[in-house]
Amino acid sequence: MNLNLNIKNKIAVVTGASRGIGKAIAQGLFNHGCKLALISRNEADLIKVKAEIGNDSDYIKIYPCDISNFDDVQNIFKSILNDFKTIDILINNAGLTKDNLVLRIKEQDWDMVIDVNLKGCFNTIKAVTKPMLRNKSGRIINISSIVGQIGNPGQVNYSASKAGILGLTKSLAKELGSRSITVNAIAPGYIETDMTDNLSENVKNELYQNIPLNRLGTTDDVTNLVLFLSSEKASYITGQVMNIDGGMVM
Ligand code: NAP
Repeated sequence: MNLNLNIKNKIAVVTGASRGIGKAIAQGLFNHGCKLALISRNEADLIKVKAEIGNDSDYIKIYPCDISNFDDVQNIFKSILNDFKTIDILINNAGLTKDNLVLRIKEQDWDMVIDVNLKGCFNTIKAVTKPMLRNKSGRIINISSIVGQIGNPGQVNYSASKAGILGLTKSLAKELGSRSITVNAIAPGYIETDMTDNLSENVKNELYQNIPLNRLGTTDDVTNLVLFLSSEKASYITGQVMNIDGGMVM
């Protein structure tokens, strides 16, 4: 068996590509020959990432955009399609947290987290569905979180958004399966990025007790699965939720 992923020249869109998991995914896809459309809000960060990942390769283009804005996302994807002609792989990775206990959480913090994390996926999916249906192929990978399965105090908005992604993934997998488009979700546990940077050593040590593999995950741990799911090798896997959490949830 040859595990050559064979994704050379595939067109991949990665949201939240300016740092953390999204940046690592973009790097992994580029290293395997994909052409990239990178999205996040901050243009200066995207310019830096483009230079870092691909030495300013013509095969990487950046599209600054707030993915929670439906109209902006549709326009950005029109530009992507104009530039690259098609889209083969969509990685819905952009996300944020606005943590607070439900007694203290503000309505705008609920709305913002749902709008970015959940509606953001809907917005990009609306834009890629037509070209993927036309191609009778495609890969959609949505980054959820284990807290969408098990909950977490102080994260009602975030865990609701990540649980919503699981329902979206499964329904969409059923809608698009007959056209060979696969839709899967990845649920990371605690991965070392800016999002987890502010955890104190005490909290990290407590966490390790609940992680059988006894460490936080790395962005490469997530990237490896994304690469596999993006490839033809994963053509019989759809509607699944795969945890990358060192065994926290089993
Ligand atoms: P991160 O380092 O905070 O990066 C988040 C990325 O999303 C950035 O590129 C950010 O760029 C972008 N983003 C945020 N809001 C956006 C918006 N409205 N429109 C467009 N882009 C937006 O986070 P991370 O740790 O890499 O997490 C990536 C994904 O994995 C998220 O969905 C997160 O929920 C999920 N996850 C992470 C962990 C973890 O332990 N790190 C665990 C489970 C799940 P701008 O700010 O410039 O827009």
